[in-house]
Amino acid sequence: MEPEVRQRYLRKLPAVDELLHRPPIQSLLKLHSRPLVVHSIRKVLEEKRRTILQGGEKEATAAGSLTPDQWTDAVEKAMATTLQPSLRPVINATGVVLHTNLGRAPLSAEALRNLVEIAGGYSNLEFNLETGERGSRYEHVEELLCRISGAESALVVNNNAGAVLLALNTLAEGKEVIVSRGQLVEIGGSFRIPDVMRKSGARLVEVGTTNRTHPGDYERAITAETALLLKVHASNFRILGFAAEVPLKDLVALAGARGLPVMEDLGSGCFVDLSAYGIEHEPTVQEAVQAGADVVTFSGDKLLGGPQAGMILGKKKFIDPIKKNPLNRALRIDKLTLAGLEATLKIYLDPSRVIKALPALGMMTWPAEELKKRAGRFRRKLGRELPAGYQVTLREDSSQVGGGALPLQALPTWVVAIRPLLLSAASLEERLRKSDPPVIARVKEEEVLLDLRTVAGEEEAALLEAVKKALWNSECGIRNAE
Ligand SMILES: *Cc1c(COP(=O)(O)O)cnc(C)c1O
Repeated sequence: MEPEVRQRYLRKLPAVDELLHRPPIQSLLKLHSRPLVVHSIRKVLEEKRRTILQGGEKEATAAGSLTPDQWTDAVEKAMATTLQPSLRPVINATGVVLHTNLGRAPLSAEALRNLVEIAGGYSNLEFNLETGERGSRYEHVEELLCRISGAESALVVNNNAGAVLLALNTLAEGKEVIVSRGQLVEIGGSFRIPDVMRKSGARLVEVGTTNRTHPGDYERAITAETALLLKVHASNFRILGFAAEVPLKDLVALAGARGLPVMEDLGSGCFVDLSAYGIEHEPTVQEAVQAGADVVTFSGDKLLGGPQAGMILGKKKFIDPIKKNPLNRALRIDKLTLAGLEATLKIYLDPSRVIKALPALGMMTWPAEELKKRAGRFRRKLGRELPAGYQVTLREDSSQVGGGALPLQALPTWVVAIRPLLLSAASLEERLRKSDPPVIARVKEEEVLLDLRTVAGEEEAALLEAVKKALWNSECGIRNAE
């Protein structure tokens, strides 16, 4: 496109003031504040200017010749975008239950109720109602955590990364911590054991090899500088084949003989034995405590199914100094999390309720047969109003636990597979992602897969609407409908 033509379009763009005085925009001013309307006008003008200068011929021409109605529309849209929250609910149709990017575990109804009640008013967060004196925020969950896990003492911080940092800093600052080479894990989002160790002020001593570490490796590495033996659960990967690591029990015996504590970073923090539901056994918190670990750390929003939090529990002798560490104040858990966490933990007092009451655990243990029925019903409903240009089939596939837990565990599922014949699966995925509410789906071999495992029953109608809209609105849908 000729630069002069672009310049002509630019000169023709209305000024902010001119737009502001147009009657339809004036009526917007009756509903919204002037700064908001002006901000929206500026945003639209900026965008049009950019399109005129850099867009292709068609786009630049369109941007340069907007009708008054189109200007009003654009300003209204820009305003709606500004007013819309950035953080908003999405429908997770990926089948990844603890999807870290989508907020990991959805909370239970009990946790939500408690959270809303506590968030909206005052509470006895740090106030002892018996004595009328200052209390501790940890009291609300410490006894619960101890009762469920069998530990002597417990505290909670912002997340498990914080829990590991705080525990290492308290127990081993300026000293050495021995870790097996096979356990120097990286969890997504830049949490790496060697880096956290350095930040805690402790010195990492690696022992063994990537695939095999023996008791003798730890024994030979112990010196007067050793403060702690650390075991890290390989949450998100597995070393298969010729592999060996020292069981926690043996590590505890070995360290105990030298008067040293053992800490285990469990990562996921499971309180129930998932093998009862056909899921691979994940070491539970109770097992770590029973095996004699002095300190155990784990997340609140992974297999526990609660809010983001980091649990630290174990022997009182080691937990007490962790509680008193000034760093603890910087990693402090807030009242909303505490409210959600207390209600979540209470559910574990009656293990028979866990699968029903905690959405994440319920989703993980859905039988494939039920998922097949649900997906079948969804497919039929979708099929009733399907534009040409799509093939929709029911297909066996697998969901994932996610959240860096149980990486090898495939959860058998049934998906609704949509194959667009006239556009790419990636474009359909984008259209779904940009719908309201956004639908997050998986793309596999030119098909968009919808896995209902992670879609709540209440969300299903909204999902159906969003999918229908995306199918009808995409170019091939329109072309075929005409
Ligand atoms: C997930 C995980 C962490 C980090 O926990 P966050 O709650 O995400 O901070 C630390 N260690 C292990 C082994 C983990 O699996």
